Amino acid sequence: LLETKEITKSYGDHHVLKGIDFTIEPGEVVAVIGPSGGGKSTFLRCLNLLETPTSGHVVFDGEDLLAPKVDLDRLRSRMGMVFQQFNLFPNMTALKNVMLPQMDVLKVSKKDAEARAMELLEKVNMTHRAHVYPNRLSGGQKQRIAIARAVAMNPKVMLFDEPTSALDPEVVHDVLDVMAGLAADGMTMVVVTHEMGFARKVADRVVFIDGGKIAADLPPEEFFSESNTNPRIRSFLEKVL
Ligand code: ATP
Ligand code: MG
Repeated sequence: LLETKEITKSYGDHHVLKGIDFTIEPGEVVAVIGPSGGGKSTFLRCLNLLETPTSGHVVFDGEDLLAPKVDLDRLRSRMGMVFQQFNLFPNMTALKNVMLPQMDVLKVSKKDAEARAMELLEKVNMTHRAHVYPNRLSGGQKQRIAIARAVAMNPKVMLFDEPTSALDPEVVHDVLDVMAGLAADGMTMVVVTHEMGFARKVADRVVFIDGGKIAADLPPEEFFSESNTNPRIRSFLEKVL
């Protein structure tokens, strides 16, 4: 569904990504983990061209995203993205936040957008907060609305960049539960996370990015196994587990 071939990204002479080959199939959940500054966010942002790779290819649904004349807006509308910061529209209720992009981008009617939004608010357990403005929502609630808003666009893949790391510990699980539910529904997901429990239980593969390269791409049971003796991974896991 989504593939990168030898992508590199440099800022001046700072080589952040040093040749990343990655692929994800429909329905797969990939957890991306690794030390701070290793290039995880840069990699994720290259997948939907929020950053333009310095070299290499990104192929989404058979289309080379770096080809001239690619309609990036159309392609991006099929990739949902959820960030650490929620970026909700502050002047709109939770419900309107989930309705608006459907109406603006997908040209869905108001009535249909509202029905779909209510369905998704129920999925993320936020029906009771539908008519509340973001400044009256907790971080975990805002993040669940942000997820509902992204899913409302019917994306083919969802990209998450540390969706829970700005949250109070007691609400992290509400958001992870919603993400696990999405995964169970068959959503294709790339999730940059420090939540090792999520990587272990929900992901099909764990990709370890270190120093701008993929140092491991393994099923979680192998990645977290004692027999994974890669010293960089061992020392990373000792710090986070
Ligand atoms: P973290 O776990 O802290 O979020 P990360 O793995 O997501 O780290 P990136 O944010 O991808 O790491 O950053 C990788 C490197 O690229 C860092 O050294 C960072 O300083 C550098 N970098 C990222 N964005 C830019 C930019 N716009 N200009 C210059 N350097 C950048
Ligand atoms: Mg990051």
